[in-house]
Amino acid sequence: MAKITLDNLAHSYLPAPKGEEDWALKELNHVWGDGEAYALLGASGCGKSTLLNIISGLLHPSQGRILFNDADVTGQPTAARNIAQVFQFPVVYDTMTVRENLAFPLKNRGAEAGYIATRVQAIAQMIDMEDTLDRKARGLTADAKQKISLGRGMVREDVNALLFDEPLTVIDPHMKWELRTQLKALHHEFGHTMIYVTHDQTEALTFADKVVVMHDGRVVQVGTPEELFERPAHTFVGYFIGSPGMNLLDAEVAGKVARVAGHEVPLGGAYDPPGGRVQIGVRPEFVSLGDAGLPVTVTRIEDVGRHRIARLDFEGSALNALLPEGVPVPGDGVRARFEPGAVSVYVDDWRVTPGVA
Ligand code: ADP
Ligand code: MG
Repeated sequence: MAKITLDNLAHSYLPAPKGEEDWALKELNHVWGDGEAYALLGASGCGKSTLLNIISGLLHPSQGRILFNDADVTGQPTAARNIAQVFQFPVVYDTMTVRENLAFPLKNRGAEAGYIATRVQAIAQMIDMEDTLDRKARGLTADAKQKISLGRGMVREDVNALLFDEPLTVIDPHMKWELRTQLKALHHEFGHTMIYVTHDQTEALTFADKVVVMHDGRVVQVGTPEELFERPAHTFVGYFIGSPGMNLLDAEVAGKVARVAGHEVPLGGAYDPPGGRVQIGVRPEFVSLGDAGLPVTVTRIEDVGRHRIARLDFEGSALNALLPEGVPVPGDGVRARFEPGAVSVYVDDWRVTPGVA
């Protein structure tokens, strides 16, 4: 197991990058704590695989260093880094049996037969393939093959880190939940440093204690699920996490008041934002409908099980509010009130903290 430090890291796939947009990974400094389980969350194309492949050594970064427990591994090949990586699509040896596939990483490192047998059995149980151990991988479904890939990734106990790159993409939804639970159990048992890449917020929030959110080649926030929900550091985190995501409105902010299209919105603290595009953000959970606040029209009510989402229009901007159970559907002339303490202020997409003059 290792602490992994990314020092001044950046990557471009182009030989002579010029502008910002030429960098798949913008300059990044980050420490992945030893033995911690992280989810790396972001939309497709934001640089998640690029980052993972740099950590495992499949890709050499254009700039910066990678340290495992203070040892510089930037120049080391993948094999020397002692990492297990599982990819989006199965990588299995078709001519080998399931058992041989699972045993492969251990055999490769010269583990003794008794240990291999025990470990393979334990992994087979985790991926629910005890009954297929002696079948050839050829002919198995994509689903089963991916489970073998996962198993191979989990079989070694002595790795520096376990990297999963959207490993459950081809797995059916029910099994997904089951396997994610197994991965968490594995983490509890062995305490590996784990990075689990996904574009699915539910998967990220249920898997990890800490979520690293990427957007456009940048890490925009590292935090617990609660932190990402309560204090999104970037507007992207606000609208990407949550369903529906955070409401954002252009505003002028001075002191404890935001002005939005001529209406006043009280804030939980006093702000003196620097120049730039100023927005306020509030999650639908903290918007209530009544006779105070912004005048809105209700465009639609959606029933989503435990609660209802009210789709609102405020002077041409869409807003969402969550209606708790039992609250009647509002009629005409209703107003949307934002819980002041739950309103965040953003300048050029980054959250600013109150009280800084
Ligand atoms: P993610 O895994 O988050 O979907 P990637 O790391 O695969 O994102 O890609 C980040 C960016 O780098 C994207 O714009 C993608 O098109 C580009 N990219 C990825 N791999 C290559 C490559 N081998 N050559 C050139 N561009 C690439
Ligand atoms: Mg990817």
